[in-house]
Order: sequence, then structure tokens, then C-alpha cells
Amino acid sequence: MRAARFYGPGEALRIEEVDDPEPSAGGAVVRVRGAGVCHSDLHITQGEVPLPRIPRVLGHENAGIVESVGSGVSDVAPGDAVAVFGAWGCGSCALCRAGDENLCNMLGWPGIGVDGGWAELISVPDVRHLIPLGDLDPVEAAPLTDAGLTPYRAIRRALPYVPPGGAISVVGVGGLGHLAIQIARAIGSAPRVIAVDVAKDKLEAALALGADEAVEAGGDAADRIRDLTGGEGVHAVIDLVGSDASLATAAASLAQRGIVVLVGIAGGSLPFKFAGLPPECLLTTSAWGTRSELEALLGLAARGLVRARVERQPLEAVNDVLARLLGGGVDGRVVLTPNA
Ligand SMILES: [Zn+2]
Ligand SMILES: [Zn+2]
Repeated sequence: MRAARFYGPGEALRIEEVDDPEPSAGGAVVRVRGAGVCHSDLHITQGEVPLPRIPRVLGHENAGIVESVGSGVSDVAPGDAVAVFGAWGCGSCALCRAGDENLCNMLGWPGIGVDGGWAELISVPDVRHLIPLGDLDPVEAAPLTDAGLTPYRAIRRALPYVPPGGAISVVGVGGLGHLAIQIARAIGSAPRVIAVDVAKDKLEAALALGADEAVEAGGDAADRIRDLTGGEGVHAVIDLVGSDASLATAAASLAQRGIVVLVGIAGGSLPFKFAGLPPECLLTTSAWGTRSELEALLGLAARGLVRARVERQPLEAVNDVLARLLGGGVDGRVVLTPNA
């Protein structure tokens, strides 16, 4: 099969012919119809996230058709359309047993610990990671497994802090943010959604996707958010950027007892001190999501409430796509289609 393999930071990925994977016992091989290109892939290709072994097939945001199954598999069959849940844990520790496999220490994630989906086929070690797609298009479903699932979890965790009539801000209207806005509209008690971004065209897109307000990031953004909320501030900030500037705006625009959920991995920090933060606010990170959260999100997608904006590209375009993503020149999510 053809696969896009990473050989080291600063090197272009190579499209190579490699052996087809075989399904392991209890697992399956999936023919990849859609494989999203994520900002976190840039952190790998730029050397900020070292991988345990190279060469490595990247790609942790996958959906496709089951090609073959391993011994002992009866509840999944070749031909089934599936989303691949990617936060593969050990399956046996206390966190995994509680369903929080995304927090497992093992981190055997596709595209990081093992080969991912930027290839014609991906080997999935256990069919518990496969979720039926029903009528959803695998290309549109692929980004939901990360770009959708990550904000879904972040927003779900923030909602208990948002009272009826309260407001939530989504900072960064990119691959995750365009889905976060739709998710915030689709779940909970219909909070007011304020989109924040540096780019005017992304703010326009946010309004088209259902955001109530759009605020240009930087400068006096926190003041404008306070004005929009009658001086109260937002009850939850979903920070999909994570820079010094975005976190400073988050703190300055937050209501008392509000919550900042940090998802973006730009590497910024926020001083944690008594003065300077709203009283009794909460600061937390959120990491990917669980299988049951992905099932719930796919349910929202099946009802037409959440839809990824995708740009389809062949596997061979992967290096161009990564360069465009680095430059901010991607609208929604680019999905590679290795079998198109
Ligand atoms: Zn990702
Ligand atoms: Zn585990």
C-alpha cells in the first residue's frame, strides 16, 4: 500500500510503498477513506513532539471501511463503514476501565505510538475502537474523531459552569473551532456563543456557523467581550489556541466562578495567582475525548447538527497541506483521501 511516512523534523514526508498491514487478533484493518490533517501533526513534523520510532505513518483522525478482521472478531465485518476512535489506551488500567482511555499513560495513539491513517490501510488493534458510521460520509466523519471530539469534550466539561442565559467563548475558529461553535449550539442550555479569532474571514465564517457574536482577538478583545455580556464576562472559555495572549484574554474576559478549558498547544502560560483571576474560577486542560463522547458526537452529526467543513486532498498533497496549515491558509479541515 501507499503510505506517507515521517522520517524526522524538517524533512518532507515520503510517499512510499510499504507492506499491507495484517489484522491482529481482536483487531481489524480499515481501508482509509478520510484522514484529517491536524495542527498537532505540525508539532510532530517540527520536532516539538518526539516520536518513539521513525519512520512513522502519521494521521490520528481516521474513518473508512473495514477491510479485514482478526481472529475472534464477530461484531465487526468487512464492508462496515466506521470511524476510528484514536485515543488507544491499554484497555486495562483504572482510567481505561472507567472509559477515560484518552488519559491512559500508554498513549499508543495512531500516528504517534503506532502507524496512523495517512495510508491506504490502517491496522486497528482492537475493534472496540471502531464506531459504526451509518449514513455519514467517512470523509466528513474523519475530522469528528479529533477536531470534533476534542472540543466536544471540552465544552461538555465546561457546561456545568454556564448558567441558563450564560455565555461561552470559543477562541480560535480553525479546524477545531468551526466544529466547537456548532457543538456549543447543539448541546447544553443554548449558551450565547462568542467566537474570537485574529482573522476577519474566520469570524465571518463563525457567524455563518451559528456564533451569536464575533470578536477580533488581541487589543481590547476582553473589554469587548465584557461589553457583549453586560459586564459579567463569559462563564466558559474554550481556548483552542493556548498562547500567552489568548490565555490573558481568557482570564480578563471570564466571569466569577467561570472556567477556562485549555485545549490549544501553542505553549503559552497564564500566571496562577489570587489577584488577576476572577474569584473561584477554574483553570483546566482537556485532552481529546472518550469513545462514548465520540459516539454522542457522531449522533449529533447524523442529525445534521454538526458538520465538518472539509477540503479533500490526495495523499500525495500531504506536504503542501502541512505547509498551508502552518501558514494559516486552511479553511475548516483538510482530509486526505488515500483511496480516492
Ligand atoms: Zn489532532
Ligand atoms: Zn489504560
